[in-house]
Amino acid sequence: MGLRHRTAIPAGCALSWPGRPRYLVSSEPVNSRQMEYWLNRILFCSSEVHPFCKTGGLGDLSGSLPTALKQLGEDIRIILPAYPSALAKSVNVRQVSSLKLTGASQQVHLLETKMPGTDVPVYLVDCREAFDRAGDLYVDEHGQDWPDNARRFCLFSRAIVELAMNRATMRWKPHIVHCNDWQTGLVPALLSRERARPGVVFSIHNLGYQGDFSWDQFEELSLPQQLWAFDSMEHYDRFLFIKGGLSHADRLITVSPTYAEEIKTEAYGCGLHPLLQYRAERLTGILNGIDERLWDPRTDPALVRNYSVDELADKYANKRALQKELGLVRSARKVLISHIGRLTDQKGTDLILDIIPDLMKMDGVQLVLLGSGDRSLERAFRKASRKYPRKLTVRVGYDEELAHRIEAGSDIFLMPSRYEPCGLNQMYSMRYGTIPVVRLTGGLADTVVNADESTLADGSATGFGFTELSARALLESVTDALQVYRQFPELWRTLMVSAMSRDFGWRQSGARYLELYGTVRRRKRTRRSRV
Ligand code: ADP
Repeated sequence: MGLRHRTAIPAGCALSWPGRPRYLVSSEPVNSRQMEYWLNRILFCSSEVHPFCKTGGLGDLSGSLPTALKQLGEDIRIILPAYPSALAKSVNVRQVSSLKLTGASQQVHLLETKMPGTDVPVYLVDCREAFDRAGDLYVDEHGQDWPDNARRFCLFSRAIVELAMNRATMRWKPHIVHCNDWQTGLVPALLSRERARPGVVFSIHNLGYQGDFSWDQFEELSLPQQLWAFDSMEHYDRFLFIKGGLSHADRLITVSPTYAEEIKTEAYGCGLHPLLQYRAERLTGILNGIDERLWDPRTDPALVRNYSVDELADKYANKRALQKELGLVRSARKVLISHIGRLTDQKGTDLILDIIPDLMKMDGVQLVLLGSGDRSLERAFRKASRKYPRKLTVRVGYDEELAHRIEAGSDIFLMPSRYEPCGLNQMYSMRYGTIPVVRLTGGLADTVVNADESTLADGSATGFGFTELSARALLESVTDALQVYRQFPELWRTLMVSAMSRDFGWRQSGARYLELYGTVRRRKRTRRSRV
C-alpha cells in the first residue's frame, strides 16, 4: 500500500537532514517496503537512563539521544536493567517476554514501559538476583564495586543478545544494536558469534572504566572460551568487558572529537591506545547534545524564577535564593562559584580543594560544591566547609534538583578535569548563563571558547580555559574570570549572552548518528549480498 511520508513519519521529523535519503524529502508516495529500507530499527543498550536511573553523563545521554532520534522518525527502543529505582519511575509496565539465560537461576523477564513524555519503548531486564538491591547501580554503601558486577552485566548483556537476535518472542529485530560503555561490552563480543547479526555500534563514554575482571570471574560466567583472547576481551591476563566493544563492534564512537584523538595516545588511552590506534578508521567522535527540554532556564521547574537571555536580571533571583538555601551570605555583589560532579581523580576536584585557601582569602568570593565519590575527598571538602562558614558550602550526595538550582544561581562553574570525554555540566552552565572555567581537554576543549583578546572582541568567547594540569593554572584562570566579572561588567554580560546563545541540542549530532547507522547498515547489506 502506498503511504504519503507525512502519515508515516512522525511530525517534527527533520526530513532534510544529512544522511536522510533524498526521496523521503519529496512528496512522492513512499511504500512500506521503502520505509522499511530507510528507517532504522535501533536497540539502544545502556546500564543507566535518565529519568529512570542515573549516576552521570551516560544516564543523561541515554535519555536524550534516543528521544531525539525517535523525533527524527527512527524506530528506536531502549533496554536497561530493572533496578528498583527504574521500576519505581515506570508506568503501565507489562511483561513482554520471559527468558532462560545461562547464569541466571530463575527466569529473566523483559518488561516494557515508555520513556516518560515520549513514545520511545523501554525494555527493563527484570532479574531479581542481579538488580533488585538497594543502593547505587554499581557500588555498595561503602563505595565498593558490587562483587558480582561481572555476573550482573553479563546477564544484562545476554538478555540484550536475545532481544537483538529476535529470540525474545517479540517479533522485532533491530538493524543496529547501539551499546554504551563496559556494562554492555560483552554484547558485541557475543553477537560476533551469531549468524545474521545486526550491525553493532559501541560508544565509549569513559575509557577509564573498563569492567576489569579476573580469569576466575571469566570462568564463572560460562562464556565461549574464544573470548579469552588478545584480539577479543583478554588483556594482559585480565578480562575487560570494554574490550568486547572495542574489538568486535562495527563502529566505535566516543563523545567528542578531541577525546577521540586523545584516547589514541598513551597519556589518555588507559592502556588501550594500541587497540584504538589499530581501529582508528572505525572510531568517530560525536559531541554529546543536551536535553534542551530538561535543561532550559526559561522553563526549568526547579528554579525560583525562570529567565532567558533577554531577562538576565531574573537570574539573580535564583542567586539570592541559592545563597539563602546554602547558608551563604546573601548579596548580589558576591561572586558565587560552583562545582557539581563525581568526586574522583578524573574530575580534578583535588585541584579545587587546593585553591580553596586562596579563593577564601579573596574578597567577596563564595564557593559551593555538590558531589559524592572518593571518601577522602568528601572528608576533605567537609572539613574545609567547617573552616569557612557562610563562604563555602559543601553538599555531599546526589541531588538532581539542587544541581539545576546551582547551575542557575552561580556566576562561575569550575571543571578542571584531568580528562573529560565530553562533559555535560559545562554545557548546562553555558545555557544557564553561568560562565565555565575549564581545563581544555576532551569535550571541554570542543565546547568552551576560551576568552582571550580576540574572542572577547569578536563576541565568540563563552568561558575561560587553561591547559596545564595544576592548581596554579586553575587559580590563574579563575582570577582572570573574576577580573572580567568585576571590572568589565558589560564584557561579562556579552560572555553570558554568547554562552546562552550556543546551540547544544541534538540537531547536528543526531544527524551524525543517523549517518553512522546508515554506514553500518549499508556495509552489512553489501556484505550479505556478496555472500
Ligand atoms: P560524568 O558523566 O563524567 O559524571 P558529565 O558532566 O558528563 O560527567 O555528567 C554528569 C551529570 O551528572 C550531570 O547531569 C550532573 O549534573 C550530574 N551529577 C553529577 N554529580 C551529581 C550530584 N552529586 N548531584 C546531582 N547531579 C549530579
